Amino acid sequence: MPDDRYSNRPRRENLLAFSPPDIGQEEIDEVVDSLRSGWITTGPKTARFERALAEYAGSEQALALNSATAGLFLCLKASGIGPGDEVITTPYTFAATVNVILHAGATPVLADVRREDFNIDPVRIDQAVTERTKAVIPVHFAGRSCDMDAIGAIAKKHDLAVIEDAAHAIGTEYKGRRIGGISRFTVFSFHAVKNVTTAEGGAITTNDGETADRLRAMALHGMDKDAWKRFSPGGRWQYDIVTPGYKSNMMDIQAALGIHQLRRLEANLVKRRNIADRYHKGLSGIPQITLPRDPEDGRHCWHLFPVLIDFAKLKIDRDRFIELLLQENISTNVHYLPVHLFSYYRQHLGYKPGDFPIAEDLSDREITLPLYTRLLPDDVDDVIAAVRRIIFDNLK
Ligand SMILES: *Cc1c(COP(=O)(O)O)cnc(C)c1O
Repeated sequence: MPDDRYSNRPRRENLLAFSPPDIGQEEIDEVVDSLRSGWITTGPKTARFERALAEYAGSEQALALNSATAGLFLCLKASGIGPGDEVITTPYTFAATVNVILHAGATPVLADVRREDFNIDPVRIDQAVTERTKAVIPVHFAGRSCDMDAIGAIAKKHDLAVIEDAAHAIGTEYKGRRIGGISRFTVFSFHAVKNVTTAEGGAITTNDGETADRLRAMALHGMDKDAWKRFSPGGRWQYDIVTPGYKSNMMDIQAALGIHQLRRLEANLVKRRNIADRYHKGLSGIPQITLPRDPEDGRHCWHLFPVLIDFAKLKIDRDRFIELLLQENISTNVHYLPVHLFSYYRQHLGYKPGDFPIAEDLSDREITLPLYTRLLPDDVDDVIAAVRRIIFDNLK
């Protein structure tokens, strides 16, 4: 192999994308089937997708929706949460997790994370509980489970609803159990970048049948059970409005994608694991980089591969590191800027830098490397070589 260390050519000829979707012919055929069938919105395929999802996640029920954001919001409403209530969650998440608490009229209370897995620290949840606390939203960052036993025990002690934000965590396991069947509510995202995608979409899984019926009504204008069936042949026109509901239902066109995405998920998780293993082999033993690890008591679904760089030992900062990777034609991302540092939450909730020091320190040093099913071993090796080169060329 020629030594390209000093050449100006990028390592790759084409830009390596960060997270393109993996859509197969089955998905395309199924969407076309929906389009030709005359039934394009919520209907039989959505029902099929819901059954498959409940079976996969190990829950009694699944309710397919147009987003995880809608799912989190509906779970808060179904738990009776509103003005005057507090909901505890992590600063290390996407803004939607916190926004839905505000949409419900409640107050978000953030609790800092653990260094080892970027996940909310149960000890800090316990410290943040007040008499107003009604729920906790743990987020399984990158696809590694939160400590659900500890969180469940705190929730039980203080009578809190647990609503899991499992946007990263379809296929994640905790102590032998799939995420989706553990807490009262779990919410998945099927946004374009997630491990299972319906382009946009989400779902709630729950073992609480009564609440599931209520959630179903709330997700579709407040109509009583299976209102969509009224448009099917022989369906009756009558319906009741049992609550002033929202509009969060999934379309069959989306479910057509989800059915096949879910069917391929286990095979795709093996591909994801192999890529994570290749990164581990290629990047271990470099003191300036900390790699994400497998949990001892569960299965990581490797939605993301977040690495931590020790910039104190380098001559460059994170922005420059990302720029140098892009010069090699490699896309990366940052997960996340902690929510409390965005302007809205600073101005309206009074947060400031320093409030959640662990989240801030992790965030300052984090770069997410590409990890998706269509990534080839050579692509992974390009990323590994580029990261190594940038570190070794810029040591202090
Ligand atoms: C993607 C994501 C969401 C929002 O999902 P949508 O389906 O886009 O609403 C919420 N929380 C986390 C952690 C996410 O990554």
